[in-house]
Amino acid sequence: MREYDYLVIGGGSGGVATARRAAEYGARVLLIEGGRLGGTCVNVGCVPKKVMWYAGGIAQTLADAPGYGFSIGETGFDWAALKHARDAYIERLNGIYATMLEKAGVTLVRGYARFAGARSVEVDGQHYTARHIVIATGGRPKVPEMPGADLGITSDGFFLLDHLPKRVAIVGSGYIAVELAGVLNALGSKVELLVRSEHLLRPFDAMIRDELTTQMREAGVNVHIRTQPQSLSHLGDGALGVDCGTRHLEVDTLIWAIGREANTAQLELARAGIAVRGDGVIDTDAFQNTNAEGIYAIGDITGRAELTPVAIAAGRKLAARLFKGEADARLDYTNIPTVTFSHPPIGTIGLTEDEARTQHQSVKVYTTRFTGMYHALTAHKPRTAMKLVCAGEDERVVGCHIIGEGADEMLQGFAVAIRMGATKADFDATVAIHPTSAEELVTMR
Ligand SMILES: Cc1cc2nc3c(=O)[nH]c(=O)nc-3n(C[C@H](O)[C@H](O)[C@H](O)COP(=O)(O)OP(=O)(O)OC[C@H]3O[C@@H](n4cnc5c(N)ncnc54)[C@H](O)[C@@H]3O)c2cc1C
Repeated sequence: MREYDYLVIGGGSGGVATARRAAEYGARVLLIEGGRLGGTCVNVGCVPKKVMWYAGGIAQTLADAPGYGFSIGETGFDWAALKHARDAYIERLNGIYATMLEKAGVTLVRGYARFAGARSVEVDGQHYTARHIVIATGGRPKVPEMPGADLGITSDGFFLLDHLPKRVAIVGSGYIAVELAGVLNALGSKVELLVRSEHLLRPFDAMIRDELTTQMREAGVNVHIRTQPQSLSHLGDGALGVDCGTRHLEVDTLIWAIGREANTAQLELARAGIAVRGDGVIDTDAFQNTNAEGIYAIGDITGRAELTPVAIAAGRKLAARLFKGEADARLDYTNIPTVTFSHPPIGTIGLTEDEARTQHQSVKVYTTRFTGMYHALTAHKPRTAMKLVCAGEDERVVGCHIIGEGADEMLQGFAVAIRMGATKADFDATVAIHPTSAEELVTMR
């Protein structure tokens, strides 16, 4: 049995970050990864998604160009060339991750891990043990149980597509569903977005949800509210029939984007006495401790704020606590800013207006809606909408919600101010940067 100080299961965002930090603090670290280094974010998440989002943005810019006096001749778009370049970029990142781990002195074992006992982990017949073990195995897309469900693909399959599907149905209402719908629509697919409930992006502020739905529809996405597939079937010529009860659709590709499930099933957690919820999520306390002594969990597997920077930050804090003597180190899960790379993008932090009204006695809300200056000259005129949610006598800003061009880059700086407890008066006292869309956030009345 080989012995280490720190054994990390999963080489995704959280696992790599915590392994590198622990090694930096002098720990002997083993990292076990069954798939490609970098995990979901690098291989089938944030990174390839953002490349596709940029591609959609370029298509929009080409459509906007005549407004600025450009005559654009016939343009072509080669999906296969884009995929090839994207895959090559990701392969380079996989290599960079391997080099980073090597340089940090982390031992890498390739293979799928499972627990063999309380402190013992097995990979392909080899056994390893450590004083501290962290589970960072992330999640994978869910596929529902229904006739023909396997005829659909998931976000993983989206990144394998070798051509742009002409007609696509996307099932789901979360950020992955709206992001994929935006990309495919911008690149020329006919997109049907099938939403089981009443709203897209249900946990978001109502202003954002409504504005996104309106703008997606205006951009050509068919958003079908309260619509749920009941079965999929093969029609002729590779087409798929989607039976939604009252509505029947014919598409070339269907993408399930109905949520993700935790990668715990293969881990044999019971052998180490680790409690797991029915949905596979591992509960942790504020310090990432599981119920089992010396065993921790970070990232998506913990079912909290499933974002790359959250997994990284939780992993780094845990390494500092275990190997740098920072006994109180832990991630504060409040006020996490997040961006949805829809078309247009959304940036949001803190409480929605509804949440603020249930949590605070006095709430004041400031909103604005406008067409950004870039669109003064373009045929397509998407709007920008912003909302500041303020609470208490001093109008502390407890929520900030933006949809519109530039929201993705706008939010990070405002997130710092909001975390520091900025009030509306602080926003007002900040001189605007003109002409920008962001200036509206400090000039709202
Ligand atoms: C389409 C999509 C778009 C996204 N976009 C964004 C975005 O824009 N911004 C953002 O912040 N987040 C985004 N995310 C979420 C982000 O990818 C995750 O939050 C993040 O990757 C979680 O990191 P993790 O370390 O918890 O898990 P992962 O990155 O999933 O890594 C887990 C690793 O564990 C490995 N593994 C699993 N089981 C075992 C085992 N038994 N033994 C060994 N290895 C194992 C897996 O192969 C994987 O490499 C996106 C996700 C998706 C699917």
